[in-house]
Amino acid sequence: MRIEILNTGTELLLGTTLNTHGKWFGEQLFKLGMRIQRLTTVPDGDAITIALRECVSRADAVIVTGGLGPTSDDLTREAAAEVVGADLIEDEAAMRSLEAFFAARNKVMAEANRKQAQVIVGADVLANANGTAPGIYVPPRLNKAANCAIFLLPGPPRELYPMFRDEVIPRLVALAGLAAAPGLLEMKLAGVGESDLQQEVDADLAQVPGLEVGYCARIGEVDLRLIGDKAAIAAGREIAMAKFAKEIFSDDGSSLEATVVRLLGERGLTLATAESCTGGLIANRVTDVPGSSAVFTHGFVTYANEAKRDLLGVPQLLLDEHGAVSEPVAKAMAEGALCVSGVDIAVAVTGIAGPDGGSEDKPVGTVWLAWAAKDRPTVAVRKLHPRNRKDFKLATSQSALDGIRRIALKMPV
Ligand code: AMP
Ligand code: MG
Repeated sequence: MRIEILNTGTELLLGTTLNTHGKWFGEQLFKLGMRIQRLTTVPDGDAITIALRECVSRADAVIVTGGLGPTSDDLTREAAAEVVGADLIEDEAAMRSLEAFFAARNKVMAEANRKQAQVIVGADVLANANGTAPGIYVPPRLNKAANCAIFLLPGPPRELYPMFRDEVIPRLVALAGLAAAPGLLEMKLAGVGESDLQQEVDADLAQVPGLEVGYCARIGEVDLRLIGDKAAIAAGREIAMAKFAKEIFSDDGSSLEATVVRLLGERGLTLATAESCTGGLIANRVTDVPGSSAVFTHGFVTYANEAKRDLLGVPQLLLDEHGAVSEPVAKAMAEGALCVSGVDIAVAVTGIAGPDGGSEDKPVGTVWLAWAAKDRPTVAVRKLHPRNRKDFKLATSQSALDGIRRIALKMPV
């Protein structure tokens, strides 16, 4: 089934609202064994009518989001009625639930809201328990323009998501005729680049019948996407595991921090962080994971030399002799954090985020990471992440977390 998504709203094109619907629909539809053929975003106004006309000429089903509100720029209903060649009428049940919505909140309904009870003649009204705008479903038989189903859905995610689940999925499944959905396995790897990964596995993966392969590079990690039936995915997984068992940190969508928290928990290990250039990002990521309190005890943000000295006991001599961004200081930070907090593993990072502060032997993006652990010698690694400050911090936190993961698994960092 050819499905198109049409997102409406001038705010999506002005950069004030991130269009999250495309990603969300992609995930939801894939779980149903369906895919988006095309995703279009248009501003409010005539563009909706023009785009919808194009969509229905190509697709079997079009999902339109936004523009069902009460204001003058909410024009989706009118546009859809025009495209399918039908009239709008006030729906009695929709009007009653609008009135009930306001009554339940002790509010007087504005005159403008009345238009939200307008529906396309003959179409299904999709209940909205979380807002005022009901959705509308135009089955293909009502559409005079093309043999295409149309769903009009509200823009706000908290209204859209339940409506999609309760009202849209059953209709889409019926339209499509049930087919077995292909499986998806998303493996995440750290410590290998996208090109190296592809070079090592691509030819072998291409030999697996019915397997679709995709790669996606992110900061400090790569996704390897395998789509196909069970046997094809299992064969693909084996090929990847044979080459990258050490780098693959999840195959169920788990983030690196979630993997770290799980591994530490399973092994009864505790963690502390000593962060300079990441300003607490590593601790923040770890504590984003539910259950992190079982493994994470201390997060030191030691930005200034004095903080490294006073909180972690880094000797002033080391700071003077080698500078804050150096192997001895990174190691002393990690060992200091380990000692002060009494954990099993401590990670330390110290680097130059830029844009200033670089030098010839320590250019912007230079970072020293060190891991101290109770049962092994402290190790330090120098990395270069010459990026903007935000991405530098993210890349550094990736390196730090991946090192913790490897230590927890008793692998070399
Ligand atoms: P509307 O239904 O057009 O009145 O949309 C109302 C609100 O829903 C917008 O102001 C956004 O906050 C949100 N919204 C609409 N479309 C999207 C989208 N594609 N992605 C994320 N949020 C959206
Ligand atoms: Mg809108």
